[in-house]
Amino acid sequence: MSQLEDELSEQEYGMWFNRMDYVRSDDAHIIVAVPSSFYRDQVKQRYLPVIEEKLFELSGNKLTIDFEIRKFEGTKPTPDPPRKAAPDVDPPDDRLDVTGAAPDSPARPRLRRPHENLKPDYTFESFVVGQNNSFAANAAIAISRNPGTAYNPCLVYGGVGLGKTHLIQAIGNAVHNDIGNTKVVYVTAENFTTEFIQAIREKNTHKFKAKYRYADLLLIDDIHFLQKKSETQEELFHTFNALYDANKQMVFTCDRPVSELRDLTDRLRSRFERGLNVDLQPPSYETRYAILKKKIESFNLSIPEEAVSLICNNVTTNVRDLEAALTKLVAYAELVNKNITVEITRQQLKDVFASPKQTNVTVDLIQRTVADYFNLSTQELKSKKRTRVVAFPRQLAMYITREVTEYSTTEIGLEFGGRDHTTVMHACQRIEARMRTDPTLEPTVQYLVRSIKDQSTQR
Ligand code: ADP
Ligand code: MG
Repeated sequence: MSQLEDELSEQEYGMWFNRMDYVRSDDAHIIVAVPSSFYRDQVKQRYLPVIEEKLFELSGNKLTIDFEIRKFEGTKPTPDPPRKAAPDVDPPDDRLDVTGAAPDSPARPRLRRPHENLKPDYTFESFVVGQNNSFAANAAIAISRNPGTAYNPCLVYGGVGLGKTHLIQAIGNAVHNDIGNTKVVYVTAENFTTEFIQAIREKNTHKFKAKYRYADLLLIDDIHFLQKKSETQEELFHTFNALYDANKQMVFTCDRPVSELRDLTDRLRSRFERGLNVDLQPPSYETRYAILKKKIESFNLSIPEEAVSLICNNVTTNVRDLEAALTKLVAYAELVNKNITVEITRQQLKDVFASPKQTNVTVDLIQRTVADYFNLSTQELKSKKRTRVVAFPRQLAMYITREVTEYSTTEIGLEFGGRDHTTVMHACQRIEARMRTDPTLEPTVQYLVRSIKDQSTQR
């Protein structure tokens, strides 16, 4: 640990490592004590690779760290380990049939070593279902029970932090754990692209193909990343066909409806649009509350009801922001060793709660965000071009400007290449009409508005 002290700031080291203690070790594992599961998760998330690397440097062995939760007094754990504090050590074999292990024990399910690319916490049990996500969640559960039959492929889309990765990985975890002999492959579109490029460079594309074309369940996260990557798209197209013909399940996620992806070949687009496309919406107050309560419970924390509702009332954007608020609060309470109260919540989260000042939102920011989203330049957005590819994003940007700023339609017209105010009014009417008939448009507008507001508060 002292080796790490040199690399981290004093504050960072003090925050996470002072209340961590060595318990025991063997050839392959080191067990350390930490004061709570919150602590464990934070350390795992932030520092595990660094610690493991350091240990490797020091010992020359690849050691796994396991955590034990102990009560701490000051910086030392109290001597008695809690009941049944078994470290979460992987079983030695890939598949461990524990049913026959002890003759008297009740039958237990077969345990399989956790999937190497999936986060074990991303399960259906930990996913709170609300009106905003029930369609997607139910589809995901159905798929995990009968992969390759009903909804193939399935594409889940929605804005950042709404649970896409959680859901797609929950399908992976469920299939990996419950259905024997299945090869589950999870990859982000970004890694898929990198691996593909590397395979070409190293001339071993057959290995790459084998990995993806022999999957029983292929999960690709964030396919919007494939825009403009034409060779990778081509490869995925062939992978898709091979798996589809073999009735293998595929699930994709995307930050927007497929119809709004740009620079995607038509044939791949039509593949994504096959099967089922479902969206995730931002959670309502009730769902935010249920999610936060579940998190609090899983960390074994005690937070007054009033503080919980304060957070839910003020953090409305997405689940990631909700979790970040909780993490910040709990980190503070752990650090100063205080119970969380409403006052502390208000104090510690006041920056998080400060609602974005709408005056920070400029037309320029709106134009850049919308143009980026559609892969256009702001010049194109303001130009005289009237092709559909430009006209729709332009109308959308005008609509958003009218919704989130105080500009008049005349001023908006001027900002968009000197157009007349009637053009702006017409654009807004078009967007409103389209929202009534196209259910995918409203989430897109919400996503863009959120992203614009987020950027405007980061300044
Ligand atoms: P996305 O991939 O859509 O950006 P993530 O799946 O990464 O979002 O979700 C962000 C965080 O919020 C994750 O920690 C995830 O576990 C959590 N989360 C999202 N939706 C839910 C939900 N319905 N119930 C519980 N946790 C959720
Ligand atoms: Mg994600």
